[in-house]
Amino acid sequence: MNKMERIDKVILHCSASDVVGDDDVERIRHLHTAPKDTLVRWKSKKYAGRGFSAIGYHFIITRDGKTHFGRPVEYQGAHCYGQNQHSIGICLTGNRTFSLKQFKSLFVLLEHIKEDYGVDEDSVFGHYYFDKHGKTCPNFIL
Ligand SMILES: [Zn+2]
Repeated sequence: MNKMERIDKVILHCSASDVVGDDDVERIRHLHTAPKDTLVRWKSKKYAGRGFSAIGYHFIITRDGKTHFGRPVEYQGAHCYGQNQHSIGICLTGNRTFSLKQFKSLFVLLEHIKEDYGVDEDSVFGHYYFDKHGKTCPNFIL
């Protein structure tokens, strides 16, 4: 994994699954780290593993409001093409539905990130903002 160059923004994602069993950091980690020639069950289908060396996000917030550590912030994530060198990636589990607990935890986490890295609300973006292929992630508009 490459070291983060600097941190100038936060990018929000969703896990793109409302399947209850997918509300689990270990399942996301497995999807991200499984070799590309391995099929992984996700959203009741099978998807190819991403072949990453670690989970792609720095933080994952599950529907119970728990904030989980993903990849350490000192390393570049694998979550947003062209932005990984200088952004923190946060994933909320869910696709169309999220919980208030998740948003409460997100706001707490964003306050910590502001204190620790000086990234304020104006530098928090949805993944869709940087995607040229019509991605709607995280499926809510900032
Ligand atoms: Zn995304």
